[in-house]
Amino acid sequence: MQFVSMTNNQKSTATSTNCACAVAKAEVFQPQRTPLSDPLTDMRRRMQCTDQWHPNQMAGRRWPIACVSLEITQRCNLDCTLCYLSNSSEAVRDFPLEEVFRRIDMIAQHYGPGTDVQVSGGEPTLRRRDELVAIVKRLVQLGLRASLFTNGVKASRSLLTELSEAGLTDVVFHVDSTQQRDGCRTEQDLNALRQEYIERARNLPVGVFFSTTVHAGNIDDIPKLAAFFAEKSDVVRLASFQLQAETGRGILGVRGHAISNDSVATLLQRGVSVSLNFNTLAAGHRDCTRCAVMLVINGQVYDAFADDTFIQRFMDKTATAHIDRATPWRAARSLGAALLMRPKLWLPSVRWVLAFTWKARKDLVVARGRVQKLTFITHNFMDACQLDRERIDACAFVAITQDGPLSMCAYNARRDSYLLQPLQTSAGTWQPLRDQTQEAGTESQGMKS
Ligand code: SF4
Repeated sequence: MQFVSMTNNQKSTATSTNCACAVAKAEVFQPQRTPLSDPLTDMRRRMQCTDQWHPNQMAGRRWPIACVSLEITQRCNLDCTLCYLSNSSEAVRDFPLEEVFRRIDMIAQHYGPGTDVQVSGGEPTLRRRDELVAIVKRLVQLGLRASLFTNGVKASRSLLTELSEAGLTDVVFHVDSTQQRDGCRTEQDLNALRQEYIERARNLPVGVFFSTTVHAGNIDDIPKLAAFFAEKSDVVRLASFQLQAETGRGILGVRGHAISNDSVATLLQRGVSVSLNFNTLAAGHRDCTRCAVMLVINGQVYDAFADDTFIQRFMDKTATAHIDRATPWRAARSLGAALLMRPKLWLPSVRWVLAFTWKARKDLVVARGRVQKLTFITHNFMDACQLDRERIDACAFVAITQDGPLSMCAYNARRDSYLLQPLQTSAGTWQPLRDQTQEAGTESQGMKS
């Protein structure tokens, strides 16, 4: 896949519409309009071209894209100090369901079944409830994995239950101090709310994830937050940490030097009191994403990636296996089935299990063999004025626009050029801004659900 059309002698950075001097530079990053015949091979080629193709690279080996963001509304019921939406967002109408379905079809055509799709916004629960359920059902019908990315305000137990019955795979609660929630100044102040969200989702057949934006005001809270997620790993399966970026309508500006993938990884390790290997597996460009996987037993955290040679070999040999990630049990079962089909992995796998069991023996006894898996991800979005061409060429996280998928960072840098375009639907031309249409008062507002 080719997201960019710049020639090699052009500068390696491009800047956004926010930067008066450089509109044209942002425009060189264009959506992929036509689906590729072999997106996995294309991703591998992009990893090779950007010097990211290593034995630990999952992009182009295990999947053709890590995640696609499907924005179903630009409206929100919070006002984050690091919001990536544009200043026009609240004036943009929810585009018709027909257009959402067309974009879902495009995702399936571009990347095929099994692709992770983040149903986001704005706040996706502001969309009418029946429409949100229909969107999840459509994703599931096409074999896509649907995650709901929500601030949780309207994500009631009843809604989460209905969405899980429709086939939702994961719910990602975005909770952090950028949201200025009443009475909550620090990340610790927000733990009661996180606990409330955990209880809303407990025992539903969905993965429960949390997302936190890291900024100067909360970086010192990261160790305690990591410890909180480890303590809640009976329900929480993944915690993602997005580093402050200057893009969209956020007001905090450029991040300080203290915030980087490395510094946040150090703080996360401090929080769980164990050394974690964040480089065992790669998911795209090294400067974009890092990932560590832990096993939590009797409250103690163990690095699941400590034996990186074995993990990389295992992942490489099972790269083409279908892993059912709907629940931890189904993931373990499908991984076990993949293992059975690969006799060369039997001996190293038995060795790994025995070594790990010996290391964790005391905690395993106390916990009666109960093991929780928890993943930490750090994601380093770029400032709109500092788009690095190499990273966008290697981008594994895209937004689906009306024209096709586009690197999320490139999309964030010039959202309005996509959002403010009229769309063609079966009912005629659809205008995006409220004051451009007489039907604005009758559009989907989603507040009744
Ligand atoms: S969205 Fe940006 S930070 Fe994320 S993978 Fe793509 S280029 Fe990297």
